Amino acid sequence: MRANKELQKRVFYTENIEIIWNHVPVEILGESDKFSKTVTGFRLKNINTQEEKILELDGVFVAIGHHPNTEVFAGQIELDKDNYIITQKGSSHTSVEGVFAAGDVQNTNYKQAITAAAGGCIAAIDAERFLAMVEE
Ligand SMILES: Cc1cc2nc3c(=O)[nH]c(=O)nc-3n(C[C@H](O)[C@H](O)[C@H](O)COP(=O)(O)OP(=O)(O)OC[C@H]3O[C@@H](n4cnc5c(N)ncnc54)[C@H](O)[C@@H]3O)c2cc1C
Repeated sequence: MRANKELQKRVFYTENIEIIWNHVPVEILGESDKFSKTVTGFRLKNINTQEEKILELDGVFVAIGHHPNTEVFAGQIELDKDNYIITQKGSSHTSVEGVFAAGDVQNTNYKQAITAAAGGCIAAIDAERFLAMVEE
């Protein structure tokens, strides 16, 4: 598990959560007609034995961790090895003049709504200053 220890504990100690170790999802199974689509199960594969099994379910929620959604900037703005946008220390300036970054795509440490909002404010101020400088 890659989640932080506190989140792991919450999962371990919740009685109605069953952890299925060493499996990856293969396929969501379902039925559909003209009017609706219904989930009926989930096909899983054991990564050690390659054996597949089907869990009968009537719903699926996808939660697959944190991955910065920055592919669109690859090759245009400098990214770090984990694909986070690199900003200059204490600011939202990126490797490209006039492009500013804030929030989860840039913050590797404190991914929270309030830090993203604060980053947005910093980026807005940096952008305003940049525009004022360009206009001079
Ligand atoms: C399950 C979960 C629980 C969380 N719980 C909390 C909590 O309790 N408290 C807390 O403070 N934080 C919580 N967070 C973290 C918080 O949601 C994030 O830190 C915050 O939303 C980051 O804001 P953001 O603006 O950087 O990114 P986002 O909120 O992810 O916004 C990015 C936006 O950009 C859009 N976008 C992506 N690609 C493109 C594109 N190519 N073109 C146009 N638009 C695009 C996306 O659709 C999205 O609307 C939680 C996060 C998750 C996933």
